[in-house]
Amino acid sequence: MTKQLWIILVVVGLVGCASPAPPATTVRPDAPLPTATATLTPSPEPSQTPSPSPSPNPTATPFITPPPAGRPAAIPILMYHHITDLAPTESALEHDWTVAPGNLDAQMSWLVEHGFHTISLAQLAAFFTGSQPLPQKPLVLTFDDGWEDDYSTAFPILKKHNYTATFFVYTSPLDHKQFLSWSQLAEMVKAGMEIGSHTLTHPHLKDLSTEEAKKEIQDSKATLEKRLGIPITTFAYPFGDYTSAIVDQVKQAGYETAVSISGGYNQSSNQLFLLHRIRVSYKDTLPDFASRLP
Ligand SMILES: [Zn+2]
Repeated sequence: MTKQLWIILVVVGLVGCASPAPPATTVRPDAPLPTATATLTPSPEPSQTPSPSPSPNPTATPFITPPPAGRPAAIPILMYHHITDLAPTESALEHDWTVAPGNLDAQMSWLVEHGFHTISLAQLAAFFTGSQPLPQKPLVLTFDDGWEDDYSTAFPILKKHNYTATFFVYTSPLDHKQFLSWSQLAEMVKAGMEIGSHTLTHPHLKDLSTEEAKKEIQDSKATLEKRLGIPITTFAYPFGDYTSAIVDQVKQAGYETAVSISGGYNQSSNQLFLLHRIRVSYKDTLPDFASRLP
């Protein structure tokens, strides 16, 4: 790949994720989902005993069984992109979509200390649709776009803390400079990480024809399943862009969940295709980070 091409890919990826969340569309209750849900990853069993010190937030309400249909459950889904150190001269945009490795490590330590247990989005789906219990203080960690630093930087930090995460990758840049390789992805899957689809080429789905959008949504799933040999059950909308028609296409393609980029930690059974995520940015201090969690 030429230097020019990968620079374009990098710019597209960075700018791509920088779009603000679209205006919320009206959310209709999801159609009933099949109860059979494939589990992608082994249940994460943190080997470290959580600190007995109580959470500093008195409103934290640990639970292990789903709330009544449509009622929210506190399951934060954190959203990360690049994990690397930035020079102060880098753009504000880049600072918004990057977290320093030292900060990621400190954030993971904080989560372990406060008794959070990482789960996959397949587990979240099974919780809401099949009443499969979750460990107390469940949390989903997500990393978008398939940057190489997912493997070189984030993955070792996750393993150090016995945490798992969901990596949303788009397939076209895989095996190219600055992006994950298929063999790195396979190694991450083997270590219990969940892989989700982020389309083939990271387009603005709402600008595509129905057929083009369908291809991005369906073929990325099929490609990842074929190459990795696992079910791909979760989807992330590029740029956080969606319409009700796109949400329907994601459901029809056979995904069980999809994540948006709108904030908050409450999730519910009627929003499994517009799950909320909390963005973590470069400037966030540990108190900033903690203040967004239940
Ligand atoms: Zn993205």
